[in-house]
Amino acid sequence: MVFPADKEAKEMIVEIGRRMYEKGFVASNDGNISLKVSDNYIWATPTGISKGFMKPEMMVKLDLDGNIIEGECKPSSEIKMHLKVYKENKKVNSVTHAHPMYATICAIAGIPLDKPVLIEAALQLGVIPVARYAKPGTDEVGNSVAPFCKNFNGVLLSNHGALTWGEDVYQSYYRLEVMEYYAKVILELEKLQMGRSLSEKQLRDLENIKLSMGITSGPLHKGSIETLNDKDIIPKMMETGKVW
Ligand SMILES: [Zn+2]
Repeated sequence: MVFPADKEAKEMIVEIGRRMYEKGFVASNDGNISLKVSDNYIWATPTGISKGFMKPEMMVKLDLDGNIIEGECKPSSEIKMHLKVYKENKKVNSVTHAHPMYATICAIAGIPLDKPVLIEAALQLGVIPVARYAKPGTDEVGNSVAPFCKNFNGVLLSNHGALTWGEDVYQSYYRLEVMEYYAKVILELEKLQMGRSLSEKQLRDLENIKLSMGITSGPLHKGSIETLNDKDIIPKMMETGKVW
């Protein structure tokens, strides 16, 4: 792993914060981002500042025990869960946390993201569990996500929001985007009360593509035995000329 230099790391966090804010993943000063610049040090977002309006000089450098090494601002108390992820999974080089609407609704309703319906979710994310409720600012938060750090690519935090991680800050953040999109698809399908699953075979094929991309983390979805999507659906109006 080639770690980014301090300057580059701070600029990347500012850029990811701007994207998070523009996507509407955070209200007020919510959300936080961190990334490693060596095996022992991370740069992280400051507390009390909107993710859309950060500057590189606001970032805080910490060691993996949470000691502040450099920076004028204080880190968020939620940095504890980032530190826990780094501790549990040495392959992780960046952690992102936000409160995107649909992912948060699933985190409140206790709906894990496990429906085998979306190619991108199978390739980039894998199944996402819901971690138990944890009291903000305490070690409970880190402990609640610890069981999922090794095998999963992210987790929903009960009555709180979403947490993702990755080998770099872009992979970590893109997983947050895919998670939010996936949560939205799942909730919209719930409203429709219909939807065709990917089959076991289709999911195995996707797993092979995923492995060829070098992605080994993220548990597999369970697909349908029957293949439900292998026939074209020709709109009826093409035969009858009637829309309804
Ligand atoms: Zn939060």
